[in-house]
Amino acid sequence: MFSGLITAAYIISSIFFILSLKGLSKHDTSKQGNFFGISGMVIALIATIFTKNFIHAKILIFLAMIIGGLIGIFISRKIEMTKMPELIAILHSFVGLAAVLVGINSYINYSPFLYPFVENSIHLTEIFIGIFIGAITFTGSLLAFGKLSGKISSKPFIIPYHHKLNILILVVSFIFLLYFINTSDQKIQIILLVIMILIALLFGINLVSSIGGADMPVIVSMLNSYSGWSSAAVGFTLNNDLLIITGSLVGSSGAILSYIMCKAMNRSFINIISGGANNKNIIKTEDLGKYCEIEIEEIVNLLKNASSVVITPGYGMAVAQAQYSVAKITQKLQQYGIKVVFAIHPVAGRLPGHMNVLLAEARVPYDIVLEMDEINKDFVNTEIVLVIGANDTVNPAAQEDLNSPISGMPVLEVWKAQNVVVFKRSMNSGYSGINNPLFFKENTYMIFGDAKTSIEAILKLI
Ligand code: NDP
Repeated sequence: MFSGLITAAYIISSIFFILSLKGLSKHDTSKQGNFFGISGMVIALIATIFTKNFIHAKILIFLAMIIGGLIGIFISRKIEMTKMPELIAILHSFVGLAAVLVGINSYINYSPFLYPFVENSIHLTEIFIGIFIGAITFTGSLLAFGKLSGKISSKPFIIPYHHKLNILILVVSFIFLLYFINTSDQKIQIILLVIMILIALLFGINLVSSIGGADMPVIVSMLNSYSGWSSAAVGFTLNNDLLIITGSLVGSSGAILSYIMCKAMNRSFINIISGGANNKNIIKTEDLGKYCEIEIEEIVNLLKNASSVVITPGYGMAVAQAQYSVAKITQKLQQYGIKVVFAIHPVAGRLPGHMNVLLAEARVPYDIVLEMDEINKDFVNTEIVLVIGANDTVNPAAQEDLNSPISGMPVLEVWKAQNVVVFKRSMNSGYSGINNPLFFKENTYMIFGDAKTSIEAILKLI
């Protein structure tokens, strides 16, 4: 009776998770999506408590949930939006570690003599693969966390014989797997498992160390996918349908997101994980010419005489928390009859959808927030583009310089507008660490300082 109810609860929460993903894929249904996600998780957690027959196990699970939930609430209240990618990376490392521990636990509790050979082989394969993916996710995510949080250099570091080492690890692990399922000697199995865990941990480091700069978002989403597959593998090991379904949802959505990002950067996934794009030359600042500064009053004059304005936000808007002032200036310009739209690059900021979230927070209407493909053709007819804390995503070198590390990455073609005003604090580069020829173009004007302070100064005068 109870097991039937638990299965029903798992099916209902799976449906909620699917609805959640559907809701989260659009701005206007994202709140609903969040609600479905929370409801699915609550049902899953309650059902999990009832999977155990012993009261002390129930109490332990309940306590673990309360402690975990409180830590989760504390972290999510404290964390800034700009720090989300590193939070996601560290959370993935927990999923990876959990998969390794659950896998080891399942192996210890498993009695192979009770099952026929085929069933036994399948179960041991699940354990082996779950631990393998979990270990890769664990060290890969820890390294990604270190790079994204600036605790270690985000520059790519390529270990000698990087690719050959990766292929060797895969081949050796596969041979180990064959031995692992075919031997009945438990000592040999344990040795194989320990060596495999060590080389999988190394594999995770090798996979992420060669990646850096603007390629980091892809690797975060790839690790997201790995964490999903490791959960699905754990689901098979534990015979837990809900884990299999949610793991597969996370695994496939992470893979699809990686694909979308690669497309947005015009890069192949293999090229990114091999760290291929970062070995190219970077243009020196002295070869770019002179840049032109502009005063607040001059920007106000330009805006008052314009009929169309495009705002291109980037990571700097998030750092300055300028989204509320940007929303106010949008309303003000609209009151003057000026057409204002936002241009959003798929990897602007530090996580996919970062700018959309900030603009939604400041209640900017969704219908004036346009994606890169929708807006790029309109820049030629735009009078003013306000580039607010964006850099790599508006870098013309992606189209003009074949030697640029971001060559071929689709960018917002802001330089095609009549005037471009760039809000930033210095001539420093963006996340990818390369110079931006946009700042030196004849129609581009630089306004230095914190983006929020500059926008509020404009607001006062307008
Ligand atoms: P960039 O990181 O290229 O540039 C941000 C700019 O903001 C900097 O040049 C900085 O210049 C400026 N800035 C910082 N603080 C302020 C402030 N307080 N006021 C005004 N300006 C400020 O941003 P983009 O959004 O254009 O590009 C995102 C980059 O991040 C891409 O390379 C992308 O690949 C990468 N990335 C994206 C992720 C995603 O999923 N979206 C995840 C991880 C990385 P200055 O210091 O001079 O002020």
